[in-house]
Amino acid sequence: MKTRQYDVVFLGGGLSAALAAYRLKQLQPERKLLVLERGWTLGGNHIWSFHNTDIAPEQLQWMEPFLVRSWPKQTIRFPRFRRQIRTGYHSVTSDRLHDVASRLLGESVRTGTDVVSADANEVVLADGERITTDCVIDCRGALRDPVLEIGYQKFVGHEVETSAPHGVTEPVIMDATVPQHDGYRFVYLLPFSERHLLIEDTYYSDHSRLDTEDIGSRILEYRSEQGWGDANELRRESGVLPVALGGDIDAFWRNRRAESPCACAGLRAALFHPTTGYSLPDAVALADILARFTPLETAAVQQLIEKRSRHLWESRSFFRIVNRMLFVAARPDERWRILQRFYSLSNGLIDRFYSDRLTPYDKVRILVGRPPIPMWRAAKAIPESSLRRRPPIHGAPQDKLTS
Ligand SMILES: Cc1cc2nc3c(=O)[nH]c(=O)nc-3n(C[C@H](O)[C@H](O)[C@H](O)COP(=O)(O)OP(=O)(O)OC[C@H]3O[C@@H](n4cnc5c(N)ncnc54)[C@H](O)[C@@H]3O)c2cc1C
Repeated sequence: MKTRQYDVVFLGGGLSAALAAYRLKQLQPERKLLVLERGWTLGGNHIWSFHNTDIAPEQLQWMEPFLVRSWPKQTIRFPRFRRQIRTGYHSVTSDRLHDVASRLLGESVRTGTDVVSADANEVVLADGERITTDCVIDCRGALRDPVLEIGYQKFVGHEVETSAPHGVTEPVIMDATVPQHDGYRFVYLLPFSERHLLIEDTYYSDHSRLDTEDIGSRILEYRSEQGWGDANELRRESGVLPVALGGDIDAFWRNRRAESPCACAGLRAALFHPTTGYSLPDAVALADILARFTPLETAAVQQLIEKRSRHLWESRSFFRIVNRMLFVAARPDERWRILQRFYSLSNGLIDRFYSDRLTPYDKVRILVGRPPIPMWRAAKAIPESSLRRRPPIHGAPQDKLTS
């Protein structure tokens, strides 16, 4: 058994850990870092995307090597209209995340390594090895804690190669012209090249059950309608992301502290956009903060991240109102109407919604106007207490977040 001394050890080598370790190594190359990932590569099997305005221009600069593809605009399709959003969009693949982060981090990355326990200064691996460090940051992915009430954005994606050019020239962020099913359904398309396409069938649903066969057959239907029936399938991915409806962030952090003295980051620290469930912009921002933070010690980093997570939870309460409109006020088959109205608003407002920079006027624009659902139901869903008047949608054994 070996014992080593590190400055920082990251548990898990997914998105948040890989970006934080990478940025820390860039800004403080003398630091002794270790990323412990149980899979054979960093990042698992994902494509992560984000809007150009979700992160600051300086952050986009250091993220550049991770981008496999960028587009200048996006398309939205609803039954009543189609439009372009003139905002750039970028994608990162797990392969690229692994290659770029491992190249800089070198021996600081250990894959195929299962962490079994950790406290503030020691990590224990499945083979019994003990590792000592000044700072432990647990980035082992989402934890489901019933003190936060959530709905789900879930999806299955097929990456395909079409036999002829597929004709999609920019990301289709939402094709909601498809038959509705299991809440709000839309198809998401990412054209990596003229024959290479990611097709994701997505649902804003009350439960997290993912029937991959059923969804797979809906993707096949969509493919044949679009003339891509004979496409070659290259890869599959699926996910169940949290959509925050309400909850008690104090209790969430009390529970984290009771479970473990380690700092945590990523989805484990509830750092995600409340409506889209996306966590890449929060992971980039935290990577930048950690890379400049001192002292890099577990207790100080834990306090820093907890404070940030609480602050973001409070400042993002408006998104939870919007989510309750979707999940509490609207019946599942009505959800598309709310989204259709939202996507008829201005390009700037949509950018500010994604990037968490809404102005008071934007918030009024989102809530006021001809309501796509009855006013009385919308009004009842605004306070967080409305959650107590509905059957719980969390806590069922199948309600697990996957990534
Ligand atoms: C398929 C999919 C697509 C997504 N697309 C987007 C997107 O486009 N944009 C966006 O912003 N967000 C997206 N998300 C949401 C979110 O960004 C991801 O879930 C993100 O990967 C979360 O980052 P994380 O670091 O918290 O956890 P993860 O990336 O899940 O990392 C956790 C890591 O910990 C490892 N691990 C777990 N237990 C142990 C252990 N005991 N020992 C060692 N290692 C362990 C896991 O193997 C994993 O690699 C997507 C999620 C999914 C599932």
